[in-house]
Amino acid sequence: MAVRRLFRYAITRFIFSAAVLLFMFSSSYAFDMKISPDVIKPGDPFILKVESSGSEPSAVFEGRALPQLRCGNDCYLFIGAVDVAASPGRYAVNVSSSSKSATAEFDLQDGNFREIYLTLSQDKVFLSPENLERVIKEKSMLDAVFLSKTPVLWTGSFVYPLDSDVTSDFGIKRIINKNTTSIHRGIDMRAKTGDLVRASNTGRVVIAQELFYGGNTVIVDHGIGIFTIYMHLSEFKISKGDMVSKNQIVGLAGSTGRSSGPHLHFGVKIQSLSVNPVSFLGLGI
Ligand SMILES: [Zn+2]
Repeated sequence: MAVRRLFRYAITRFIFSAAVLLFMFSSSYAFDMKISPDVIKPGDPFILKVESSGSEPSAVFEGRALPQLRCGNDCYLFIGAVDVAASPGRYAVNVSSSSKSATAEFDLQDGNFREIYLTLSQDKVFLSPENLERVIKEKSMLDAVFLSKTPVLWTGSFVYPLDSDVTSDFGIKRIINKNTTSIHRGIDMRAKTGDLVRASNTGRVVIAQELFYGGNTVIVDHGIGIFTIYMHLSEFKISKGDMVSKNQIVGLAGSTGRSSGPHLHFGVKIQSLSVNPVSFLGLGI
């Protein structure tokens, strides 16, 4: 009797363990996933690496289907970004394929963004009806540009457009003339009027025109929803529609648009979100 009870116990244990293992592999451990970098702040991009055999997975973060790159057989890289206005806390990327689903989680750290006070001429802050109409028109034109998703055009890692310092960080809250707040959605780089501004990577020029805030602005589409932005230029060296290669001169630095002196405003967009260019270049994609 004792032997039979022991046998029954062993069988039950085996079935239980097998069920637990099956559950682990079929649900929460459905994919081999890793999110990098280790520290993610508001306005940062991130990479989710998924290794999975079988049908191709997709990933969704905050309602956005993330663009995907291949990293070999059964290996996928998803590029995501966190809104600069997001609150610190636990965030999840939902990953699924036709047969399984799982979540990859990460902790969003505090951005600790600084506040600075700026003085600009009143006509650049309080907009006349004509300027307001112009700004609204330009915003909807830019919103449409950032929605386009072309195939990957870039090669190798992205580079800084100038060999100089960052003079104003991403995410800084700028309080203009003590009453208007705007979040800095790019970085300012030290430049003199006429300094050569280079394309951060290969892509197609989708904007090369004078804008109210950005002044002479160049925007390069690198594919799958990734764009780089160059503002306040004194001169263009390319035209809309041109293909540019990495390090090709797109224009000369200047102080056009809403600017308090010569510098380059350099921005990066991923899926219409403004991301920190320093973090983006640090990703090494
Ligand atoms: Zn700026």
